[in-house]
Amino acid sequence: MRISRLRFPVLLAAVSASFTLHAAQTDLRVSPPGWWAGMASPKLQLMVHGSDIAGSTVSVNDSEFVIEQVNSLDSPNYLFIDIDTADISPGDYELTFTKQGREIYKTIYTFRPRAANAAERQGFTQKDTIYLVTPDRFANGDESNDSVAGFEDKADRQSPGGRHGGDIQGMINHLDYIASTGFTQIWSMPLLENAMDDHSYHGYAITDYYRIDPRYGSNALYRQFSQHADKKGVGVIMDMVLNHIGSNHPWMKDKPAEDWIHHNGEFSATTHRRESLHDPHGVEADQKAFSDGWFVPSMPDLNQQNPYLANYLIQNAIWWVEYANLSGIRVDTYSYSDKAFLSQWTARLTSEYPNLNIVGEEWTTNPVITAYWQEDSYRADGYDSSLPSVMDFPLQDTLVNALKDEETWGTGLVSLYNLLAGDFIYGDPYNLVIFGDNHDMSRIYTQLDESYALWDMAMTFLLTARGIPQIYYGTEILMANPDTDDHGVIRSDFPGGWKNDSIDAFAQQGLSPKQTKAYNRIKSLLSLRKEHPVVTQGKFTHFAPAEGIYVYFRTDEAGKGAMIILNKNEAENDVKLARFEPVLKEFSTASRWGNSNKISLKTASIEVAPKSASVWLLQ
Ligand code: CA
Repeated sequence: MRISRLRFPVLLAAVSASFTLHAAQTDLRVSPPGWWAGMASPKLQLMVHGSDIAGSTVSVNDSEFVIEQVNSLDSPNYLFIDIDTADISPGDYELTFTKQGREIYKTIYTFRPRAANAAERQGFTQKDTIYLVTPDRFANGDESNDSVAGFEDKADRQSPGGRHGGDIQGMINHLDYIASTGFTQIWSMPLLENAMDDHSYHGYAITDYYRIDPRYGSNALYRQFSQHADKKGVGVIMDMVLNHIGSNHPWMKDKPAEDWIHHNGEFSATTHRRESLHDPHGVEADQKAFSDGWFVPSMPDLNQQNPYLANYLIQNAIWWVEYANLSGIRVDTYSYSDKAFLSQWTARLTSEYPNLNIVGEEWTTNPVITAYWQEDSYRADGYDSSLPSVMDFPLQDTLVNALKDEETWGTGLVSLYNLLAGDFIYGDPYNLVIFGDNHDMSRIYTQLDESYALWDMAMTFLLTARGIPQIYYGTEILMANPDTDDHGVIRSDFPGGWKNDSIDAFAQQGLSPKQTKAYNRIKSLLSLRKEHPVVTQGKFTHFAPAEGIYVYFRTDEAGKGAMIILNKNEAENDVKLARFEPVLKEFSTASRWGNSNKISLKTASIEVAPKSASVWLLQ
């Protein structure tokens, strides 16, 4: 029977309206809380939670809403509805749940029209520079949400592991700073609800996959953040956690299925033996011990082999991309999720959004493992991964060692050269995300023993090498964590983000001369990236380091070029150009970035400062 329903006028932008649950009964919850007409995959599976809803019959007021099947698992309080949305029109549909002839629930489910180019959205690329933010520690834009009733973990700015009050409004307030410094993407640590009793500020123990934590803002505010960022040419990358939930997630009290959580919902540690997943000599038991074990007791490990849970996680990711207009996803603890599920998850995401970029976190210093996860890399076992990008942890580790180690035949800059010479193992080394540090390790300035010269070399390298650079907030003002590796200290408050802060780094007020120099250096390198695309997209060519000097190039087919010289020597150096003739022969002059004087490449050598990184534009 057809009942009239609301249809959204096409002019009403889909992205500006918010999803609302219209449950007649307060405990009814439908996930995803709304969907879009015209998605690539017509399949949609709704998870409906309500007291004793299992076994009920579902009817809908419109024949376009095609229910294929309705299933219940082990819990009496969940129902799964499979829908074919191939012919669905945007609008509201009324669902009625009846049990033994009695209507027990009624709700409205909304399909919205997609925004223009939603499917073809461009994800972050080599052109971009990603700014990684710990939102609780960046800026407090709304003091009224610092502590929220019903959430145990209250604001406590004195505690390194406590909540400091930073939020989405704080990021919105400082979008100008981020954009004017030159960053073009923001990856913030997770913003979803984290109703954990303590340490909730880091965000990785999610308790609601469809709700922004009220201490950060709201779903609507997150979407506004993305819209404001987009207007300033900055994309938003969402940090997603597929491997685990927080132990205060409602699923721990009422699991949809008995096998929803690994080890029957009891803590059993992962072995962290990620190597088992692609080991040609290995056994399945080692793979299971890695994949099914929990990360920590507060993070129950999800069993994505359960197809309903797999669907839930896939649809959740798509929902956020579409809802918040994301330009990318960063996936936490990537390899710890079920391998077959990851294959399915990446394939679904990339088939809905062919140009979206997704980067997986796989913390290993062994490039063979990093490469295993990237699409188009060689794999002995034929594993099918559609993951476009992986975090380049091997490069992070090698970069720090290359800068700190003594220059010998086998150590120092040569280790960077050696690592990059192994890039043939990657499906696309240019699409790896490269970084000097992140939220889980010592600040790069600390790792480099607070040597400004080495920091400068690291930043220059990261912003000119192959890959997509990511800079952790505060790196631009030399934030450090001396004498401790406490994560709460690594993730210190950004000066100026709180009312009455004595230093305002957003306005470069109160910074030391060294910090100001660092900020200006980052800003200059970011403008180099914008003004000279060859630096970000050109072919990478390098020469074997010799005598403490490493020279590499970015060149393109339009005849543009850049030469980068890292000099680790304590003395000025004359870099003889003859060796680089295979690349330099295409050019006639070089000018040092920041200096318009042109030097003829017929000169025999170029002088570089001690312990320096210099960029030369070639013409
Ligand atoms: Ca706040």
